[in-house]
Amino acid sequence: MPEKVYIFDTTLRDGEQTPGASLNVDEKLQIARHLELLNVDVIEAGFPFASRGDFEAVKAVAREIRGCQIAGLARAFKQDIDAAWEAIKEATQPRIHTFISTSDIHLKHQMKKSRQEVLEMAVAAVQHAARYTANVEFSAMDASRSDLAYVAQVFTAVIDAGAKTVNFPDTVGYAIPEEFGAKIKYLMEHIPNIHQAVISVHCHNDLGLAVANTLAAIMNGARQAEVTINGLGERAGNASLEEVVMALTTRKDLFDFYTDIVTQYIYPTSRLTSKLTGVVVQPNKAIVGANAFAHESGIHQDGVLKEASTFEIMTPTAVGIKKSTLPLGKLSGRHAFKKKLQEMGYYLADEELNRVFVQFKDLADRKKTVFDEDLVSLVETEVIYKSVPEHFRLVDLVVLTGTMVKPSATVKMEVGGELKSHSAFGDGPIDATYKVITHLAGSKCRLLKFAVSSITGGTEALGEVSVRLEDAGHIITGQGVDPDIVTASARAYINGLNRLHFVKKLGPKRGKPEKL
Ligand code: MN
Repeated sequence: MPEKVYIFDTTLRDGEQTPGASLNVDEKLQIARHLELLNVDVIEAGFPFASRGDFEAVKAVAREIRGCQIAGLARAFKQDIDAAWEAIKEATQPRIHTFISTSDIHLKHQMKKSRQEVLEMAVAAVQHAARYTANVEFSAMDASRSDLAYVAQVFTAVIDAGAKTVNFPDTVGYAIPEEFGAKIKYLMEHIPNIHQAVISVHCHNDLGLAVANTLAAIMNGARQAEVTINGLGERAGNASLEEVVMALTTRKDLFDFYTDIVTQYIYPTSRLTSKLTGVVVQPNKAIVGANAFAHESGIHQDGVLKEASTFEIMTPTAVGIKKSTLPLGKLSGRHAFKKKLQEMGYYLADEELNRVFVQFKDLADRKKTVFDEDLVSLVETEVIYKSVPEHFRLVDLVVLTGTMVKPSATVKMEVGGELKSHSAFGDGPIDATYKVITHLAGSKCRLLKFAVSSITGGTEALGEVSVRLEDAGHIITGQGVDPDIVTASARAYINGLNRLHFVKKLGPKRGKPEKL
């Protein structure tokens, strides 16, 4: 009988520690809903003690998501554990995840504590957490660089104290698969009470080996994998959910394991996560990259056309990449539209559907064929625009540009319900537009990044603009979509300003004290 590997998704915690990828409560909820559709076993929703925003987000996820365990991260301190419990207690299956470092490097330079002191703190933390719930996970930070006998000693003690999952992280991405697998085997053989807990691993990708290390650990006894969508996370990121799951699924001949992941939701979840975090997926990324199923060589194309398995080890549909069977146009009705969205994995409320349908009709009038990618973008944009209140709203935009004129823009927009307009010249139409919007919004933010991409090929494609803005230490991403790239740019900037306005009202971040 194949054994189950538990999938612990930490996109909302470690993934959110990706530089510049912070998410607000609504955005975390949207990703959490997709993680529930994917059917992950555990959603680590955040680090409740780290900031008020994190606390509120974890609480909201714990309240709404019913089909997954919801974990909150906590250092091995009483106040962290209390905050984590406060945030997750309304979940159907709450889990407290507490951690402390076990490596001599961290003990000596960072914590200035002895091994005995750390062992006692770990046990005390797990005992404290276990008073709230039987579902306690303990992590030994920097485990892969720790003395293995000492980690075994700590794990034995925390399992006695009530930990049901013991996590062995490769915090700094230092391990090599064969070595990492052997360490898991050692733990299986040297922890007398190991049958009372699940061994978990949490691998970072600094040497590009996070997925390989995770698989090596599973082959040696680990039964929980901590992963993120698109491999997001600190520095080079974490083991990616899609790669770990599809490796186990595709190589069933080799792995006698299964996961409960509904793989058809992988691609929609990857898209949404990329959109909301503003972190673009590289085209050659395994499973979810734009080229993951693109065959360029003539020999490969010929083979795939004759029989897909000649050069495809898995099908695009298995991970939710759908080939368009029924392109929509301006004559398509509401029913066909709804059916199409459902085929693509989007189940919208009637009111949401109506709003997206109006935009679809508008787009179909301007653009000959509406591709699946355009629909995905429309749906996501509608959801994204909805995620923060519109303090700033674009009403009208006129630009004048060309080779013989100095580019200029006139913008009419609402600022806190008041209609304002202004004009300015710029180096180009987007520069002029941004100058006017900055003036009207009275913003002091800095533009850190500006990126334009077209969603599908051809000159009539939808332009997708992503901006990253910074103001008073807050870094956020704004998104805009329109067939006109200047309008898309204006929408992205205004979306970003709305988000900044929203996060600034939430107050300063306390900062994330330590990273696992
Ligand atoms: Mn980590």
